[in-house]
Amino acid sequence: MSSQCDSKDKKDNENQCEQQNLQLLKLTAETDPILHSPIEEMRLEDIRSPETKQIVANMIYSIRAKQLERANAPFTKAAGMAANQWGINKRIFLFCPKGNDGEAKVVFNPTYKPISPNQVSTDPTKTKSEDQFTNLYREACFSVPQAYGIVERYTNIAISYVDINGVQHTDEQLSGWKARVWQHETDHLDGVLYSNRQSGIKYGPNCTEFHRFQTKSEFDESYPK
Ligand SMILES: [Zn+2]
Repeated sequence: MSSQCDSKDKKDNENQCEQQNLQLLKLTAETDPILHSPIEEMRLEDIRSPETKQIVANMIYSIRAKQLERANAPFTKAAGMAANQWGINKRIFLFCPKGNDGEAKVVFNPTYKPISPNQVSTDPTKTKSEDQFTNLYREACFSVPQAYGIVERYTNIAISYVDINGVQHTDEQLSGWKARVWQHETDHLDGVLYSNRQSGIKYGPNCTEFHRFQTKSEFDESYPK
């Protein structure tokens, strides 16, 4: 998912990257079948395997703004990215709702379910908008170039996943923007693009408005600042 968040550029240590044999991953095309069918749950031994560790290292390397630019990605700011967007058939995504040049959390086997606002733990920072069951906001996606949409998402969700150490987490809560990014990335691993759903949130994300442009400059001019 692309991000509107500003993030500071961090200098990449190219020499270090070469020593670790990091590979710049290329984004797959919107029509690639890997983006349109669900990715299977990973077994714990697969999550802990050296092969997966190398894939995760390549993903963390490739989501940085500088590397996205090198890979000719449609955007350089990311809030998250799912493995299948790079053509990788693994149920993994990177989660960085604050921007892609800070820490990116590695998430395996994610799921989510909506929770109603009155089930949300008491949080003094909760805003009034988080009292709604769903909310509308703009989204853009690395797999849907030169386009954006207004997408209805659940405001509060309960998430489950396995972390980088192979530890299972269950029923943690997310709200607002973080919940939106989580839903967008999990939907990728379920074979769903935000732009494919215009049938009501009961059936997945509900894209209520969709705008696609012919060129990147047209998109840049039209994308609300
Ligand atoms: Zn996306």
